[in-house]
Amino acid sequence: MTLLGDAAHLMPPLGVGVNLAMLDGCDLALAIARHDTIGEAIHAYEKTMLPRSTEMARLLDGAADGLLSTELPDFATAEDH
Ligand SMILES: Cc1cc2nc3c(=O)[nH]c(=O)nc-3n(C[C@H](O)[C@H](O)[C@H](O)COP(=O)(O)OP(=O)(O)OC[C@H]3O[C@@H](n4cnc5c(N)ncnc54)[C@H](O)[C@@H]3O)c2cc1C
Repeated sequence: MTLLGDAAHLMPPLGVGVNLAMLDGCDLALAIARHDTIGEAIHAYEKTMLPRSTEMARLLDGAADGLLSTELPDFATAEDH
């Protein structure tokens, strides 16, 4: 058994989740085609998928903070300009 897409690595909604899920699917399909056993294929796939998603999670750490901000823009100041 293995995981891919959001099940393997949930990302913040910043435009990378679908691309990572499609890359995972592609890598898993290629690994199955290129290896003799499913076990070897899953090992090869996870060797690529895990560092890639870990690195992306590190890069996006805190990047969604602005989406969840409770601060409102200062509309009065914005109309002055
Ligand atoms: C608001 C929002 C905006 C986003 N915007 C972007 C964006 O602009 N660009 C981007 O790249 N990503 C974006 N994402 C992330 C992207 O949607 C996900 O990363 C992507 O859909 C993950 O694909 P997935 O196939 O792993 O999971 P999902 O697309 O969640 O697919 C999982 C599927 O499994 C089904 N399922 C669940 N449980 C079961 C079960 N027990 N039996 C059978 N089926 C089941 C679900 O119904 C679903 O259809 C956004 C996400 C959100 C929430």
